Amino acid sequence: MQLNANIPDGPLAQKWDRHRFELKLVNPANKRKYTIIVVGTGLAGGSAAASLAELGYAVKSFCIQDSPRRAHSIAAQGGINAAKNYQNEGDSIWRLFYDTVKGGDFRSREANVYRLAQISNDIIDQCVAQGVPFAREYGGLLANRSFGGAQVSRTFYARGQTGQQLLLGAYSAMMRQTAAGRITLFPRREMLDLVLVDGKARGIVTRNLINGELERHAGDAVVLCTGGYGNVFFLSTNAMASNVSAAFRAHKKGAFFANPCFTQIHPTCIPVHGTYQSKLTLMSESLRNDGRVWVPREAGDSRPPQQIPEAERDYYLERKYPSFGNLVPRDVASRNAKEQCDQGKGVGETGRAVFLDFKDAIQRDGRAVIEKKYGNLFQMYAKITAENPYETPMMIYPAVHYTMGGLWVDYNLMSTVPGLFVLGEANFSDHGANRLGASALMQGLADGYYILPYTIGGYLATADLPAVDIDHAAFKGDAAAAQAKIEKLLAVRGRRTVDDFHRELGRIMWEHCGMARTNPGLEKARHMIQNLRGEFWGNVRVPGEGADLNQSLERAGRVADFLEFAELMVIDARHRQESCGGHFNEAYQTEENEALRDDAHYCHVSAWEYTAVEAQPVLHKEPLVFENVALTQRSYK
Ligand SMILES: Cc1cc2nc3c(=O)[nH]c(=O)nc-3n(C[C@H](O)[C@H](O)[C@H](O)COP(=O)(O)OP(=O)(O)OC[C@H]3O[C@@H](n4cnc5c(N)ncnc54)[C@H](O)[C@@H]3O)c2cc1C
Repeated sequence: MQLNANIPDGPLAQKWDRHRFELKLVNPANKRKYTIIVVGTGLAGGSAAASLAELGYAVKSFCIQDSPRRAHSIAAQGGINAAKNYQNEGDSIWRLFYDTVKGGDFRSREANVYRLAQISNDIIDQCVAQGVPFAREYGGLLANRSFGGAQVSRTFYARGQTGQQLLLGAYSAMMRQTAAGRITLFPRREMLDLVLVDGKARGIVTRNLINGELERHAGDAVVLCTGGYGNVFFLSTNAMASNVSAAFRAHKKGAFFANPCFTQIHPTCIPVHGTYQSKLTLMSESLRNDGRVWVPREAGDSRPPQQIPEAERDYYLERKYPSFGNLVPRDVASRNAKEQCDQGKGVGETGRAVFLDFKDAIQRDGRAVIEKKYGNLFQMYAKITAENPYETPMMIYPAVHYTMGGLWVDYNLMSTVPGLFVLGEANFSDHGANRLGASALMQGLADGYYILPYTIGGYLATADLPAVDIDHAAFKGDAAAAQAKIEKLLAVRGRRTVDDFHRELGRIMWEHCGMARTNPGLEKARHMIQNLRGEFWGNVRVPGEGADLNQSLERAGRVADFLEFAELMVIDARHRQESCGGHFNEAYQTEENEALRDDAHYCHVSAWEYTAVEAQPVLHKEPLVFENVALTQRSYK
């Protein structure tokens, strides 16, 4: 199959406007005749459902949680980018576009990223109009702070709760349409399969998580907004329910999976502290606006930080990257933290941590100012670690945080399955090999509020969509297959818990497909995953029944998918014989240990086609063409 990204012709800055004009429209009176299934209610799914319903479509909205408001997006702390240039620092749509392409190590599509930068400003206006309480300057204008990989302050924020506030905005918009009868909510549902009729996405099979009942839902198009797959590593900053299942099951039905090995490891998380931990906590990147990262100059120096004099500290990011200092992009900051710890300069009990120090900022601005900016983050840190970060530097270490890979989509956000659209973190997105901070919220909302409402109309207006209902053989067959899989999981009755398998998978992935990768390590990991998967199906213990609320069963289904998907990540990482952004193969680095790309051979999106569980997937390449920015070695010095 030839991949066609459907990027419109014409100058970069005019592509989106022109495309919107050229897309076929659905007459307002006809919109109500179409049913659109939206899976996920985070910022991507919530904004999509609200916008589609506002346009007049009949929307069915599904989520795992008991309320759309509890989607993982609620956790987002630091902020959302936009090119408003309120600070008068020389920001522009072009600069946001350029920073994002460069930040992603030149592995994203120019046209998508430019559109994202264009839309960024509209998102802020819309959210303000919804009542999102962004921080403001004394004169009333919206305030900004800085995030990594940019030399301007373009991040809009609501203290450390930006995701929550934006989600409340989207949720209010959804509720307005729910009350109007155009959105039907299906909370506590898990999508188990995508249903295709005549090769087009026409519905889903879900499990009611309260009573275990399998349900079938038909529609004219399906929109997946099911978030990222960082939990394949077991320990991550993601919500516990974040999973790959919806995306992976769509992949098995023909949706290509793009760049699965591109994972973001965030530099500022609370370090792992024990083997029974099941979750890691992010300390927002916004803290690097004022916090200074350092380690002792001497390896093995175990003195408390207060006893280490200035001259014996190494502010290694400021030293190595004077232009960007502590605000280098996440992949660069993470690798440097690992490097310092590998050299024996790590701090804390495990030696796998570096300091994030606010002493200078507090001396300069006063504690009240720092508290106002980051109070809730400091409180969270104190509660988890029992240390006071106003007096003792925080200790931080990189942790899995975001996944740039996802289902492949074209410029219209449609996957390789006609009628299946993928939004937000679930698609392979606009972030290339590394996402810059505060740009996931921007992308999720751009996809849901501004892009899909146009592009899905173009599809519906031209597709041949005869009526189908849930008694169609395809629905019955997929529901029966989902039931059989549940019964297979319950029938194993082995001796190891689901979490135990998940934890072991996470260790394999972190060790061999994490911050640094090697070819022998990836090959070893592939065998280890295959063996673990074999053991899972022979020895997993899933207590309880299917026709009931059963969280072990839910987790077992997700871990079964992670066990297949992890192999795809490793295959993708092994294929990409270069280093770029979050994919760092130790064999490919510059003399200064920076990621070394191979543009001649790997300037493409790797889109994988599913074949069978134990079989090699088929690789399709979408070449990335850069007509507006020059491909250079990324430098933040
Ligand atoms: C701690 C933390 C802080 C962050 N801070 C920022 C920040 O400051 N700025 C920024 O830009 N980004 C930030 N991010 C990243 C950002 O929050 C996410 O990328 C973004 O919120 C993802 O939104 P989404 O709508 O794509 O998916 P999600 O918010 O993950 O929503 C997924 C939805 O899909 C549903 N779902 C999943 N699987 C199924 C299934 N099988 N069946 C039915 N429903 C399903 C879930 O119930 C949920 O409703 C942060 C991430 C974390 C972890």
